[in-house]
Amino acid sequence: MGTLLKDNRKAIVEEAKKIVITAHKSPDGDAVGSSLALYHLLKKMGKDATVILPDPFAVFLKWMPGADEIVFHSKEEERCAELISEADLIFCLDYNVLHRTGKLAPLLEAQVGKKKFILIDHHQQPDTFPDVLISDTSSCSTAELIYEFAVSLDAEDLVDSTIGSCIYCGIVTDSGSFRFPAVKPETHEIVASLLRKGVDHAAIHRAIYDTNKEDRMRLVGYALSEKLVVNRELKTAYISLSTEELLRFNYESGDTEGLVNQALSINGVNFAAFLRQANDIVKISFRSQGTFNVNLFARAHFDGGGHNNAAGAATSESLAEAVSRFESLLPTYAAELNY
Ligand code: MN
Repeated sequence: MGTLLKDNRKAIVEEAKKIVITAHKSPDGDAVGSSLALYHLLKKMGKDATVILPDPFAVFLKWMPGADEIVFHSKEEERCAELISEADLIFCLDYNVLHRTGKLAPLLEAQVGKKKFILIDHHQQPDTFPDVLISDTSSCSTAELIYEFAVSLDAEDLVDSTIGSCIYCGIVTDSGSFRFPAVKPETHEIVASLLRKGVDHAAIHRAIYDTNKEDRMRLVGYALSEKLVVNRELKTAYISLSTEELLRFNYESGDTEGLVNQALSINGVNFAAFLRQANDIVKISFRSQGTFNVNLFARAHFDGGGHNNAAGAATSESLAEAVSRFESLLPTYAAELNY
């Protein structure tokens, strides 16, 4: 059954020979899963495709088929520049604006208007530069949109257990294992199709969630017992970790993933933040449950953004400055936080 499309995505993909797939910096399960799913799909369609990511991802994602074939800009700048200049189609996955790709952004910006761009994403306020803009802010993951993209190209039959595993990884990690409000009946319908195609969901869960290092468990234990600050009156909890503290537990990228959600899981807490020193900046994750909009909070005060209940930011302030500014902002939100 053909799908009626308002855009020319089919023609653009059919005409493209060399395709580059990109995702945001500090790539998460959805960024890597979406990229690799599309990579395998395009290869099955006979395309020359390459995944370029700004920087590496956490070890718990390395099991994904095709992970070894990803080219990282932080490691191979020249090769990335070459691949991008040779491409005739560039995919932008799981990000809304080019600067989300960090140091990869200037390379991509130079190609706007020269190459075809297809953006597939679920973050708010997507940029308007792409030739095809597939933005669904109600979707729990970009991976879900990749499945729908395959359907829209009449390529659903090409989705096999390899592609399916990558899509499943994106959905499960971005939906908090199917518990976030953005999960829809369609999410479960897509997952049902993936299981019918042979995806081993139990093995994927084990690979993502049950492969903790001892150091990571001790870091999480330390963060929760020594560094968790709970403000009962303002229904807020936060954790901050300095470089020194991270090094004490041999910190590796991904080790603090999910920590902010644990702060949010405290009974009576509506708003949680996690602040981590990373070289000369501080990276911040915001989470909320219910009506408090962390996207607006991150945008207004930390030049960040994301979704209503999950957002991120980075600041060049010191960790102590960022923490004290965060604390001082809270009382002005007393009414919004108390529900
Ligand atoms: Mn995502």
